[in-house]
Amino acid sequence: MLRCLYFCSQNIKLPDMKKMTLLMCLLSFLFIMPSCKKKVKEENTDAQLKGIDMENRLAKYIDVPLKSDLSKLTEKEKQMLPLLFEVADIMDELFWLNAYGEKEELLSKTKDEQLLKYLNINYGPWDRLDNDVPFIEGIGEKPKGANFYPADITEDEFKKLNDPLKESLYSVIRRDENGALKVIPFHVEYKEQLTRAHDLLIQASELAEDKGLQNYLQLVAKALITDNYFESDMAWLDMKNNTIDFVTGAIETYEDALYGYRASYESYILIKDHDWSKKLAKYTQFLPELQKSLPVDQKYKNEKPGVDGELNVYDVVYYTGHCNAGSKTIAINLPNDPKVQMEKGSRKLQLKNAMKAKFDHILVPIANNLIEESQRGNINFDAFFTTTMFHEVAHGLGIKYLVNDPSKEVKATLKETATTLEEAKADILGLYMITYLYNKGELKEISLEDYYITFVASMFRSIRFGQASSHGKANMMRFNYLLEKGALVRNAEKGTYKVDIDKMKVAVVEIGKEILIVQGNGDYEKAKAWVNKDAVVKTELQSDLDRLDGAKIPTDIYFIQGPEVLGLSK
Ligand SMILES: [Zn+2]
Repeated sequence: MLRCLYFCSQNIKLPDMKKMTLLMCLLSFLFIMPSCKKKVKEENTDAQLKGIDMENRLAKYIDVPLKSDLSKLTEKEKQMLPLLFEVADIMDELFWLNAYGEKEELLSKTKDEQLLKYLNINYGPWDRLDNDVPFIEGIGEKPKGANFYPADITEDEFKKLNDPLKESLYSVIRRDENGALKVIPFHVEYKEQLTRAHDLLIQASELAEDKGLQNYLQLVAKALITDNYFESDMAWLDMKNNTIDFVTGAIETYEDALYGYRASYESYILIKDHDWSKKLAKYTQFLPELQKSLPVDQKYKNEKPGVDGELNVYDVVYYTGHCNAGSKTIAINLPNDPKVQMEKGSRKLQLKNAMKAKFDHILVPIANNLIEESQRGNINFDAFFTTTMFHEVAHGLGIKYLVNDPSKEVKATLKETATTLEEAKADILGLYMITYLYNKGELKEISLEDYYITFVASMFRSIRFGQASSHGKANMMRFNYLLEKGALVRNAEKGTYKVDIDKMKVAVVEIGKEILIVQGNGDYEKAKAWVNKDAVVKTELQSDLDRLDGAKIPTDIYFIQGPEVLGLSK
């Protein structure tokens, strides 16, 4: 019935509908048209949604057009892009289903432009930059497991569920007609959308001039309809000379705040910057050396990071699904599959145009408010770019399996704290590496002070993502730690912060060590206690952060994006 309502209130798109649905819809339309009409009327009048504090919420985002120079693309590459945009839009549709449920049903309940924009930014009625509080009157709390699980699921019944796929990345949990839990693989639950995406990717692959890209597009098409990404992950790492890149599928598990098991759909369309990528290639050669140098006992660094991984720079031209929800990602490290990482390493993608937008519109204004005046001159884009880059390198280092039981993944053992710990590790070890390389005579273009102070300014930026974000929580933990160790000193009068470089160097090593040990031991209780204690914003910091809101400094970016912005006709 809902489905029929949906089609009744929209323009019916015949080619998009399955025959059965069409038949059902037509039948209901013919037989129960009066009730269908009545429902439409209700949706248009009675059920109008009311937003809460829309003006201030929207002020957290600054609109920035997402552009790139496409002149270096070949004709075939330009023809391929519209197909990729379509696939990306399907991933967007699927992420709505992961995170909330029926998008159109929700959006049809308001005509308020501001509210519509905010619903789209958040992929649902909960504010991702405000600890997921509902921003619509009368809406309850966001279910911890988003729409991956029944909202009323209990820990006990999940425990009792006997299904080998119950912890799988690529499935949802639903109730059967008797109310019992059942597991449905993504490729079954989202069959119609995934088949469409598959077909478009096959078409796109036919336009690919680069053999690596062609192979990858074919395999990722297959991955979508089988929920098995192993081969496409491997093919993605094998592809080296492509200019267009397309990251797509069910990838990150952050949206599942209940257990952290389930992946969400997303897409990035990327244009590789070959010149910058070459410049960065040289840092990859330091990976084994960096792993060896980690400040922990040997048993925590026995794993060998893959050296086949690379560090590349891109302009991102389209974000959809999870990566477009709330705060925008500016660097990625993929694939996530530890088996692929052990065999081939991983690829770090630096999204330079997006980084520059955040640096100019957010980081610099934050520094001007929160960093002590004498240190503001140390804030620069190169430092921001490099610390973000090494955050990604650091994800590939450290430990992925428990020291005492290598059959167990750190990620699964640390459950919902895993991503927070992993982000904290990546940030801190990233800085540790910069220090290490700097001392070796690399990275000398700017000073160590620049790296540290820009890093701290960036921490304030990330803390503003709030507790709903693993990155937000990781930064709170680190902020509290650095403050405690005296590496950060607050000027009580001005509410500004000074970085003590020497103490910072010591603190970075200490916190890095602590994280690696918790991870290597798979110490869930300790991780949980740490997150509960330190992943909070205390009163003083809150008052400082409130000044940023008062000064109307945005927290994140809303990208105006799509084929038209790029000058492509769709
Ligand atoms: Zn990260």
